[in-house]
Amino acid sequence: MESRCPICKAAVRSGRPENPSAPFCSSRCRDVDLGRWLDGAYSIPVHDEIPSEEDIAIASARAADPRRLS
Ligand SMILES: [Zn+2]
Repeated sequence: MESRCPICKAAVRSGRPENPSAPFCSSRCRDVDLGRWLDGAYSIPVHDEIPSEEDIAIASARAADPRRLS
């Protein structure tokens, strides 16, 4: 069974242990993919999960006086 390396699109023999780097064609491409994955993990926006100081201020203002911002 043959597939394509996700990094360089080279034909890859996907069976192990023939190709321990499968589904990549080589350990180099595997490392490139890992690097991309780490870059993506670090660049995921956290805005929705961690409220900003402004969000917290608005939330506390609403809690203190619900009528003010409604
Ligand atoms: Zn490759």
